[in-house]
Amino acid sequence: MIDTHCHIDFKDFDSDREEVIKRAKDKLDYIVASGFDKTSNQNVLELSKEYEGFIYPTFGFHPVSSQNSTDEELKDAQKHLIDNLSNIVAVGEVGMDYFYVTDKALRERQQEIFTSFLNLADEYKAPIVMHVRDCEKKAVNIIQDYEDIPYFVFHCYGGSLKTAKRIMNMGNAYMSFSTMLCYSQQHQDLIKKIDLDYILTETDSPYLAITKEERNEPANVVNAVYKIAKIKDIDISTVDEVTTNNARKIFKI
Ligand SMILES: [Zn+2]
Repeated sequence: MIDTHCHIDFKDFDSDREEVIKRAKDKLDYIVASGFDKTSNQNVLELSKEYEGFIYPTFGFHPVSSQNSTDEELKDAQKHLIDNLSNIVAVGEVGMDYFYVTDKALRERQQEIFTSFLNLADEYKAPIVMHVRDCEKKAVNIIQDYEDIPYFVFHCYGGSLKTAKRIMNMGNAYMSFSTMLCYSQQHQDLIKKIDLDYILTETDSPYLAITKEERNEPANVVNAVYKIAKIKDIDISTVDEVTTNNARKIFKI
């Protein structure tokens, strides 16, 4: 099993990161640590060196936290990304968030930043991990034009079934489901109709724990795999094998 999206660099893990990673190692093949700004990108890179062969980094620029960033900061983060292309397994997380951002000008800025990273992934033929919330249809319309991006990942997919079908039809786009599956009816309904061949698993740790007070951790991705098996009424080992192979193909690990 693989946790394809987590934030193991967050200060939430500062006091016991080693134990958290050890618990993950006991259960998982590897984890993908998602950077979301230049500092976090640098942090996940360092963790990937410390835990070589188990933690793999992606470099991103989060739509919510980076919407007010200047062109200079954007350029600086992109240069950092280009300099580290051989060290990362994907671009991301980048994207658009219409849930948190309702201002029209800020939404336009988000799209501008998102597009600049799509151009980058296209130029360097890198897979891209996207944070898209409440604008999934729009995101699908945008990404259709990028023929040189090998794989697209919708992290924590929560859009409509109609858009999910369009994503499956692309053939090289995937939807990642988190431990949220354990309690979210919307996600449980979606997973019934989405082909296992387009599914990835993640925790988004430290977020999305089963209870709000709890801190989520990568080892909990096991719960998402179990839940998918239960909802789709297939063997746990089959879900494990197919979703793990999907991740291996995308991230080339
Ligand atoms: Zn994330």
